Amino acid sequence: MPANKKLLVLPGDGIGPEVMREVRRVIDWMDRRRTVTFDLTEDLVGGAAIDARGTPIADKTMEAALASDAVLFGSVGGPRWEKLGFDMRPELAILRLRKELDLFANLRPAIVLDPLVDASTLKADVVRGLDLMIVRESTGGIYFGEPRGVETLADGSKRGYDTETYTTAEIERVSRVAFELARQRQGRVCSVEKANVMQSGLFWREVVTALHAREYADVSLSHMYADNCAMQLVRNPRQFDVIVTSNIFGDLLSDLASMLTGSLGMLPSATMGAPDSAGRRRALYEPIHGSAPDIAGKGIANPMAQILSFAMLLRYSFGMDEDAKLIERACTNVLASGLRTADVMAPGTAKVGTSVMGEAILRELDKLAA
Ligand code: NAD
Repeated sequence: MPANKKLLVLPGDGIGPEVMREVRRVIDWMDRRRTVTFDLTEDLVGGAAIDARGTPIADKTMEAALASDAVLFGSVGGPRWEKLGFDMRPELAILRLRKELDLFANLRPAIVLDPLVDASTLKADVVRGLDLMIVRESTGGIYFGEPRGVETLADGSKRGYDTETYTTAEIERVSRVAFELARQRQGRVCSVEKANVMQSGLFWREVVTALHAREYADVSLSHMYADNCAMQLVRNPRQFDVIVTSNIFGDLLSDLASMLTGSLGMLPSATMGAPDSAGRRRALYEPIHGSAPDIAGKGIANPMAQILSFAMLLRYSFGMDEDAKLIERACTNVLASGLRTADVMAPGTAKVGTSVMGEAILRELDKLAA
């Protein structure tokens, strides 16, 4: 049996604990199959941690995160904590985790599962079979670059400015993540910038090109301007395998790509850091959606984004591709059987709540593993 996998689970607020409960059932199912044993710790984060401990994330939770092989995060926040000061926001928990784990590459898959092909706003023919991954640099670029500010000019008018800045090392480390992912997928990376009008974009292109020639010549590399990429994502999204891009372009393009798939309740994500001496990257996995206070406590949230985040964790942190595929297939089959949570309802399907959906996924796992 493989060695225990150290996993920190942070359900958070709102629907976080509701959808995480369904992941725990999948984990229990995997434990029973005895292919793997998880050394699992669960802790408070976000508003729940503020209520219990007066801080969005306790130092001991941070220590547990640093000692874990992977962190599975739910979602944090809600109206209840909105009146607290800026330094007591539940969202500070995720910011601190990203900073202290040094997570610089945000991975957002955009996958269209066959049964949900009509949930996209694009034509089924354009998105059927879509499976692309956007790798967004998430700790550098214009959102953090200096100088930044608003200054008063000699004529009394004002000027606001931010700085897009990337070092060789920053570009190389996020590109490595993209190239390595491509090796596990279809072997194609498209690097996206504005090399036509930005010095930093031209530099980005040069660094990616040099790294590719030096270390990743087996992967196919193309380049695209960010505005064209936005158009191509809508025109023909299936042309892409892995897209790697800067913080600001990734912010826009990953939201665009997410919506090709139609539903927030279906979308997982991962954020990766640097590899340790054994080659294992620090990583945090979470659904794209937030704590959905409007439906929290009603038992109707879609647990699939959280469960699919766990599948990503198995694939990318634990190298358990077969198990990840099994979970993904179980989700697809349940949707194909016509069971749906309210957010992905379609004519002719049956509406179920969070725990019935969880049970259906477990039943499907039993079937697939039999
Ligand atoms: P949200 O993603 O929580 O919800 C947007 C809409 O999508 C809501 O109508 C919600 O009911 C629906 N929805 C979301 N997830 C769903 C699911 N799994 N199943 C069914 N429907 C689902 O975004 P919001 O309403 O803008 O934010 C709510 C709170 O979440 C805020 O406090 C915000 O700060 C926080 N938030 C946290 C994170 C995070 O923890 N990483 C991310 C985004 C927002």
